[in-house]
Amino acid sequence: MVERIADGKVVAIRYRLSLDDGRVISESGADTLDYLHGSGNIVPGLETQLAGRSVGETVDATVAPEQAYGERDPMRVEEVPRSAFPAGIDLVPGMQLAAQDQHGNVKPLTVRSLTAETVTVDLNHPLAGETLHFSVDVISVRDATAEEIAHGHAHGPGGHQH
Ligand code: ZN
Repeated sequence: MVERIADGKVVAIRYRLSLDDGRVISESGADTLDYLHGSGNIVPGLETQLAGRSVGETVDATVAPEQAYGERDPMRVEEVPRSAFPAGIDLVPGMQLAAQDQHGNVKPLTVRSLTAETVTVDLNHPLAGETLHFSVDVISVRDATAEEIAHGHAHGPGGHQH
């Protein structure tokens, strides 16, 4: 019986992610990415397009921003005083940092521009507003264990190690 990708399956993939301009953003190397299908481990638009596929298939999936990291929100670009950053950090436009909010959540931010006193930061996800192009090879598909279902992610070499 051919194992098809469906909710509750652990799927090992190799992938390449590029943007409209052809820039490659990330790719799996020798290792696979293992994820638990149906648990939101990967962007929704990719998860939808992988459903029903089986081992050995190559899937080219184009995913619109609303099915990936959302549209860019111009309200999430803010000017903050330089004093909000630790002294000794060498801020450069384009730099990505992780900031912690008052609830302890870590959020990525991108430095957009600098003046002597202020830093313009972009709190949008770095891939917000981007249409994503995935090329995915389906390497293996298996039933998830009860523990993986409970945790909501895959375990093992290409998944969570713990
Ligand atoms: Zn786990």
